[in-house]
Amino acid sequence: MITAKFGGSSVASGSQIEKVMKIVREDPQRRYIVVSAPGRRQRLDIKVTDLLYRAYEEYRKNREYEDVIALVEQRFAEIAADLGVSVDVREEMKIIRQNMDLGQDYVASRGEYLSAKITAAALGFPFVDAADCVFFERGKLDELKTYDALADRLGDLEHAVLPGFYGRDEKGRIRTFSRGGSDITGALVARATSSELYENWTDVNGLLCADPRIVENPETMTSVSYDELRELSYMGATVLHEEAVFPCRRAGIPIYIRNTDHPEQPGTLITAEKQKDRMVLGIAGKKGFSNIQIEKALMNAEVGFGAKVMQVLANHHVAFEHLPTSVDTMSILVASAAIKFEREELVEELVMAVHPDIVTIEDNLALVAVVGAGFGRVGFAASLLNAVAEAGVNVRCIDAGFSGMSLIIGVDEEEFELCIRSLYEAMIQRRNRIS
Ligand code: ASP
Repeated sequence: MITAKFGGSSVASGSQIEKVMKIVREDPQRRYIVVSAPGRRQRLDIKVTDLLYRAYEEYRKNREYEDVIALVEQRFAEIAADLGVSVDVREEMKIIRQNMDLGQDYVASRGEYLSAKITAAALGFPFVDAADCVFFERGKLDELKTYDALADRLGDLEHAVLPGFYGRDEKGRIRTFSRGGSDITGALVARATSSELYENWTDVNGLLCADPRIVENPETMTSVSYDELRELSYMGATVLHEEAVFPCRRAGIPIYIRNTDHPEQPGTLITAEKQKDRMVLGIAGKKGFSNIQIEKALMNAEVGFGAKVMQVLANHHVAFEHLPTSVDTMSILVASAAIKFEREELVEELVMAVHPDIVTIEDNLALVAVVGAGFGRVGFAASLLNAVAEAGVNVRCIDAGFSGMSLIIGVDEEEFELCIRSLYEAMIQRRNRIS
């Protein structure tokens, strides 16, 4: 049994939904279908969800939202007409207009709601409203209640189409996940129905080995482990909502990223398995880090030093990202945004807590993560650092744990792109040499 989720671009128009129908009909195992709201048809198009947020904003400010909501109605009316389905878009939109005061989440959710109604009608499958089987409690997903309700509702159905992105809270109000949250709904449905596979159909061939804005035509990964994906997405690589991985990972359900426009492409399969022969899997990175540097003679012998430092950070709700240390220095890498407002207080409190010789903060740092299984090999880290050195990039810090899964390289922000490009080239060259 397969749960298949189709993203915004896959349901952006009648002709896109026809591709969805073909994919679904090709494999009878694709039983539960989760859809997003219609996304962009071309680059300058506006996503239906964005229009809905805008409509609600206008409604809240001055009640004049008709221009925007009319665009939503037009999009859905066109899609329904192109597919020849008998969903009464006018009536549905009338209900939305009458209920604008139900709040932002309600209005935003209507994109998925109508998209699922139309797709269900086109496929001839029953429509199951997520409001009846995805539950929130005090602002958070109530996972267990949701699994029970989904299993209950879908158990007797051979097929169903569900809207992604939203559910209902304890007071009966519609609540949405964060943006891109239809991925989460898909994962919940896959888990609740004990699907063997969660397919996530989108508009790219899969997860790329590097950011295409930095590296020209990067390769697509054919497989990646949940852990590796986590490392890469934490460092900025995106293809799936982060929270969508956990329900599948816990149940061991593979996630398969596929391209609706190119179903012949192999896609990226996400499983628990790490491929040991693959030295570098991907390279990702982010700018916007700061280093809080603390120096104190004999720091290494002072029991509790680290705990006191961390307590100061915790008091300011600052999470640390990496913590390379040497004998008498500690470098605390944090997101610059996290220390934007309380910088001076933070330094003063650190001084009071541990009486260091020096505390400084340096900004404009970038971190680059090389993820893959190569770190168990002699000379592997050296080969990466050589590539970076040959490009003339100054390595400011290195951080690698014993997980053997990733190496983090800290560089000045202006050398970030060059660092990524040099690592990517080294990875490809190495692979070509081996094969
Ligand atoms: N439509 C929502 C968004 O644009 C949710 C989704 O597509 O996953 O964020």
